[in-house]
Amino acid sequence: MNNLIGERYSRHIILDEIGIEGQKKLINSKILIIGLGGLGSGVATFLTRMGIGHIGIIDVDKVDISNLQRQILYDEDDIGISKIKTGAKKLKRINHNIIIDEYEFLLDKKNASDLIKKYDIVVDCTDNLYTRGIINRACIDNKVKCVFGAVSEFNGFIFTYDVNCSCFECMMGNHEKFENNKSNNKPLGVIGAMVGIIASMQALEVAKIILNMDSLAINKMILVDGHDFSISTVPINKRHDCYCNRSNV
Ligand SMILES: [Zn+2]
Repeated sequence: MNNLIGERYSRHIILDEIGIEGQKKLINSKILIIGLGGLGSGVATFLTRMGIGHIGIIDVDKVDISNLQRQILYDEDDIGISKIKTGAKKLKRINHNIIIDEYEFLLDKKNASDLIKKYDIVVDCTDNLYTRGIINRACIDNKVKCVFGAVSEFNGFIFTYDVNCSCFECMMGNHEKFENNKSNNKPLGVIGAMVGIIASMQALEVAKIILNMDSLAINKMILVDGHDFSISTVPINKRHDCYCNRSNV
């Protein structure tokens, strides 16, 4: 690690949990962020700043004025521009050491597995159950860990899964029932700052996974209530008839 890199991450390196070895682990990690909206903006910003060496971003949307209330990667000059193109440019401006893979297409059943298997960890920052189900199956099939995040109104949710623990479908039911939830036709209300809280928690969870730390959000959903800042957990048990058990991968 050269001096400049050491200086950039000096506040990481002095931490007992990270040190030089831990920072090298962060630098050598490949993370895929699916969805570059509110959650994805925040996750990408922090992972880039924290020195995750290789980041994939996937989205098909263009920046809309209604995004600016919560999507911190964009500003008024970006309206009408591809989120991936402007997002990648801004992330490189934050940290030019990071390799950014840009994917401007829709994640679907056909391409999900090939894409996801290239990465160490996936961060689910999407906004519809159908795509979340596709991510779930591709992560189970390829034994990749996924950090799920969601925000609705003043509430936020975070949950981490892989093939060895309860998965998204253990929690929500089998993927087939989400065929009719392919897009968020009727957008939910979301308080802007809540997205930042959950995105930060997802980025922190990714770092904890890379650093082999304990206390991950595994087999439980963490719920954050923005009204009173209370945090609660709901156990998520592995379902015996779930895809994560049937696939036996
Ligand atoms: Zn499952």
